[in-house]
Amino acid sequence: MNKAFTKRSLVTALSLVFATPIAILPLNAQAAEAAKPAAEQQKKKTIADLLKNTVAHPGLFDMYQSKEDGTLYMKLKRAQLGKEYIHFIQSADGLPEVGQFRGAYWGSRLYSIDRYFNRIEIRSENTSFYFDPSNPLSKAKDANINRPVLASVTIEAEDEKSGDVLIKASGIFLSESLRQVKPSANPDAKPGEQFPLGNLNADKTKPLSVHNYPANTDLVVEYVYDNPQPVRKQQNTFAIGEFAITDDRSVSLRLRHSFIEMPKNTFQPRLDDPRVGYFGEIVQDMTAADATPYRDMISRWHLEKKNPGAALSEPVEPIVWWIENTTPHEYRKTIADAVLAWNSSFEKAGFKNAMQVKVQPDNADWDAGDIRYNVLRWTSSPTPLFSGYGPSFTNPRTGQILGADIMLEYTGITRRQELQNLFNAESLNLSLGGDSMSHAGLYEGAQFGSHALLASGASAGEVDQFVKEFLYYLVLHEVGHTLGLNHNMKASQMIGFEDIHDHKKAEQHGLTGSVMDYPAINFSPDGKAKGNYYTVKPGPYDDWAIEFGYSEALNDPAAEQKRLDTILARSTEPQLTFGNDADDMRSPGAGIDPRVMIYDMSGDAVSYAEQRLETINTLFGGLKSKLAESGDSYQQLTNGFVALNTEYARNTQVVSRYVGGVYVDRGFAGQSGAVQPFTPVPKAKQQQAMDVLSEFLFAPNAFDRPADLLTHLQHQRRSFNFFGQTEDPKLHDLALAMQKAVFDHLLHPVVLKRLQDSRLYGNEYTPAMMLNDLTEAVFAADAKGNVNSYRQNLQREYVNRLSSMLKKTDSSDQHSAQALARYQLSEISERLRTSGNNTETKAHKDMLKFLIKQALEPVKA
Ligand SMILES: [Zn+2]
Repeated sequence: MNKAFTKRSLVTALSLVFATPIAILPLNAQAAEAAKPAAEQQKKKTIADLLKNTVAHPGLFDMYQSKEDGTLYMKLKRAQLGKEYIHFIQSADGLPEVGQFRGAYWGSRLYSIDRYFNRIEIRSENTSFYFDPSNPLSKAKDANINRPVLASVTIEAEDEKSGDVLIKASGIFLSESLRQVKPSANPDAKPGEQFPLGNLNADKTKPLSVHNYPANTDLVVEYVYDNPQPVRKQQNTFAIGEFAITDDRSVSLRLRHSFIEMPKNTFQPRLDDPRVGYFGEIVQDMTAADATPYRDMISRWHLEKKNPGAALSEPVEPIVWWIENTTPHEYRKTIADAVLAWNSSFEKAGFKNAMQVKVQPDNADWDAGDIRYNVLRWTSSPTPLFSGYGPSFTNPRTGQILGADIMLEYTGITRRQELQNLFNAESLNLSLGGDSMSHAGLYEGAQFGSHALLASGASAGEVDQFVKEFLYYLVLHEVGHTLGLNHNMKASQMIGFEDIHDHKKAEQHGLTGSVMDYPAINFSPDGKAKGNYYTVKPGPYDDWAIEFGYSEALNDPAAEQKRLDTILARSTEPQLTFGNDADDMRSPGAGIDPRVMIYDMSGDAVSYAEQRLETINTLFGGLKSKLAESGDSYQQLTNGFVALNTEYARNTQVVSRYVGGVYVDRGFAGQSGAVQPFTPVPKAKQQQAMDVLSEFLFAPNAFDRPADLLTHLQHQRRSFNFFGQTEDPKLHDLALAMQKAVFDHLLHPVVLKRLQDSRLYGNEYTPAMMLNDLTEAVFAADAKGNVNSYRQNLQREYVNRLSSMLKKTDSSDQHSAQALARYQLSEISERLRTSGNNTETKAHKDMLKFLIKQALEPVKA
């Protein structure tokens, strides 16, 4: 070290003597200088040297960017080392094919920044465990809990007096060290299915902008991934989203990093409770001995009363929402009204004007990605993933919500269909499983609503009104998320079936207990009752949840616990019923309480769905005359047909979930009004569900549609969009896909086991009864006559499913189901003895007999 210093002094001395030092420096001295390790050379430079030709961005961490090559430096003050910071990422712009889209939140994490000799290290801190500091066990609090070093960068220069250190920001931000950006290979994807994102290109990856503020340092980075020879499976669909990928070989993803100072305030975490649905942080008390050592914290904003103790007070800092300047003018009022509607819930929790709305000026000097602003944003995306999305980010140590945005998709309120190949059952989204479906769900409900209104003769003005009602609901729902609330998929049970179209009832408390559900749109059978397609205000559950989450705390911990317990004791009131996505039954085999379901409505969802299925059948009749507009192609008619079928499919799935269902109650032991946790769905209700499925999904005439409608289901030709496929409607595939989706539930091993298990605690509808009823529904109606083509496919599918249940020979845990499947196949064989009249039917029955014989007596290879 000293040696290097001496040499540098010598060079400096020489340069003082001679006017052109470099030219006269002996060649061997230049070589010696170059041979020294780079780190040693740089250490000689001071912070001031390195920052000479830079632009300064002062803020939480002072940032400097070189005017020559764009190198970004970050200065850390001594007092900033050894501390924790919140790190948060959101997608500034992305590509849905790799799971990224504008405004996607990546969640916040806690990172600590510290020095290790001549390096700065960033560690990811673990916040999931609590040790009582007064318990000696707390001395072992680090045991087996990981705190990985994510980044380690060399100190470029330092000021020994002030303790400031300077590092290159590129080592932290221009790599994937803080977060993985490129998704890992999906082990289940077939070759060419996953988007072929290449490798991170270090030359092209760069910071785009620095935004620095006293409490946060933000950096937008463009990550560029290059793949010179991408391999991607040929897409069969002509989706406009394909056109958003300008060149498969190179993809730019823009992420906004934020480092945020730990908030210093009086915020008090509030513990979570299973009876009310908040997002939050999981924390386990490792020094507690009881059965539920949970200190999980809910996510909530820091709302403090201006007048502490007053029954009603304005908050010190309200939650301010900005309507982005991208928002179409005609929707701004609807959006603002929906945000402010939440003030009624806050008033019941003691806060006045908790929510405020402003409009981002067209000439604003801040952009919507700025984390200091909560913005209602708009996009019109080529590949829309949702109609709305309402994320927030928190302090992982306390659960305090620090910021939120809402992304709204323009597509959600249009009658566009983004997928062209609509007769492909897959693109009809007939399976309710998967995240994208749930995101698309509200959009598809709106698609049904607007087309159903047109088909029942509504005017353009009435359809516009419907769109505004939908948007209002969407904003109510997304704002609910940003307040910390998760879904309540049970809330649509609030009003009884007999009152569900009664406007007066709906206006009293709303249509649903909560706006956090994905309800079926409340479309009345005659299509005449206008309005109230969606609930128009936060419901009783929302008021109660906001009271639990936001009402002012008492100072005394015991009194505070008692106060919260009193609020929570109301959970057994029917209007406050709750069940979230983890409980819901959208996917076959998942969830057990059919009341916790999406796209259902009323306290009797089976009867409601039956009414909806009847309504749709009626609407098919008027579709052509109402949707095929003179002078236009048949695209709108075709979109309407798809929207009606999607709605039809969903309703059969809602009904199916009652079979094998078990009602769940989360009331605590001894809680007033609580019933036992598990109660099997009554036999009569399960049979009613089977009857509805038999009539609307399995019956020979279930898919009778007017022939002059089928001859007009034509997509408008656009360029070469029919390449690789044919444009005629695939009607048999469509029907079979709906039937398969319901078989997926009825014949799911988990459902069959539950039918069996729940017999031990009250279920009276046995697996044998269910399969008997199913066989009856699939085979009885045309046992003696001709079997039509829909039914042939259905019967074949049912035989296939039963046969494949027999294939696992060593699964004793499925014995009962297997034995019953074998029995049903024999029974079906018997039914097939009566030969039909026509050749088709004879051939079909022969084929089934052949398949059953193979299943029951497999030929040994
Ligand atoms: Zn939601």
